[in-house]
Amino acid sequence: MPPEIDRLPPAPRRPSAGASTELPEQALDEAVELLRALLRIDTTNPPPSGGGERPAAELCAVALEGAGIAVELLEQLPGRTNVVARLSGRDPAVPPLLLGAHLDVVPAGDGWRHPPFEAVIDDGFLYGRGAVDMKHFAAQAVTALRWLKKLGVVPAQDVIFAGVADEEEGCGLGSAFLVERHPEKVRAGVALGEIGGFTLHLAGRRFYPIQIAERGIASLRLRARGEMAHASVPPPETAVGRLARAVGRLDEAALPPHRSPPVERMLAALCRGIGGPAGAMAWIGATPGLLRLLLSLTPDSGLRRSLLGLLSNGATATELSGSGKRNVVPAEASAGLDGRILPGQTIEGFLEEIRAVVGPGIEVQLERAAPPQVTRYPHPWFDRLAAAVKAVDPEGIPIPYAIPGFTDAGSWARLGTACFGFAPVVLPKGLDFPRLYHAVDERIPVDGFRAGLRMLWAALTASD
Ligand SMILES: [Zn+2]
Repeated sequence: MPPEIDRLPPAPRRPSAGASTELPEQALDEAVELLRALLRIDTTNPPPSGGGERPAAELCAVALEGAGIAVELLEQLPGRTNVVARLSGRDPAVPPLLLGAHLDVVPAGDGWRHPPFEAVIDDGFLYGRGAVDMKHFAAQAVTALRWLKKLGVVPAQDVIFAGVADEEEGCGLGSAFLVERHPEKVRAGVALGEIGGFTLHLAGRRFYPIQIAERGIASLRLRARGEMAHASVPPPETAVGRLARAVGRLDEAALPPHRSPPVERMLAALCRGIGGPAGAMAWIGATPGLLRLLLSLTPDSGLRRSLLGLLSNGATATELSGSGKRNVVPAEASAGLDGRILPGQTIEGFLEEIRAVVGPGIEVQLERAAPPQVTRYPHPWFDRLAAAVKAVDPEGIPIPYAIPGFTDAGSWARLGTACFGFAPVVLPKGLDFPRLYHAVDERIPVDGFRAGLRMLWAALTASD
């Protein structure tokens, strides 16, 4: 190369609609500082008196307004604030993209290496409640919007940021409130949020699960009735005894395994990624019944529990009540059950399974239900997210992913939105994502957070 050309500064890459543009280092630094500021705000849900998401929502609002992006703060209860911003795209015919991050966190608990709300960086890790669940994505999304605006990069579709309240207690004051009361502000063609985009180290490979499905919810109450009596002269059979036996049966019995299309896709992609004889063996073992048997022989771990949760519906007793008085045999005893419904299964079918286990004489009442959430697959945005992963980690293997729990995706999907779990973070080997979740010493590798933002940026700026 002639020296004079060598000395020339690189030609500025003119940002234009859909053109790929590098995200400057300054943006990555800024995102780290924004995440640290968010982690220093205690948004524990349920909030201690006077708490709530408002200061975190306001922090996002200030950052967005600083780049000239209009924002709105919306709340159903004072302090339980949602922040919504919109960056206009160039083609109104393309449905918006929504980046959704909940701003609340679960209680921190005790025993942390560094205080949970001080955003300490130690040995390359940023510690704090919400570091991966999921203030990191709020910081990434806000930074991405700011820099799209600053660099004049205009995607085809509007890009909406929704920083929401109350996900950890069921979404009522957050995404569900926005969908019910302000649907026009959050209606989108595609939404990105929890859970996915993290590195899953398996069989010497780096997988990147991208969520396309989650189990539905069925909140149940079991009731047994009997004769009310003084406890010193009990009837031959009590309501508490009958209920306890039913709960015991449920605890011991596994609900029947089912094939579920999104779970099958996930397992198939995982086995293909492992490849070779090991992959083929894994695939042979991937029928729900056999997989459950194999998992029952492996040590307890986050991945094992997640996979077990994807092979059947679930019902876990979490509340028990009797007379409330030590010497009174109650006329009625009841148990609250947390029920989960696998994609492809129905609430009616699930209730049948429960009745078959608890047996006669136990009333099964459905208190609340939400259907499973399944995103169409294949989908062009899945491919786009997969390409964004590969742009940053060329050896990474993106796979479709189903989760046993639920997220804000259940709310967004009610507006017809295709939801993907993609809140990217590159994790080093030995760091198990499910182990960080809701755990003591929740932390994010700073480099991995920056790499995740580059993945999000690659997805946002890919040519349409
Ligand atoms: Zn979360």
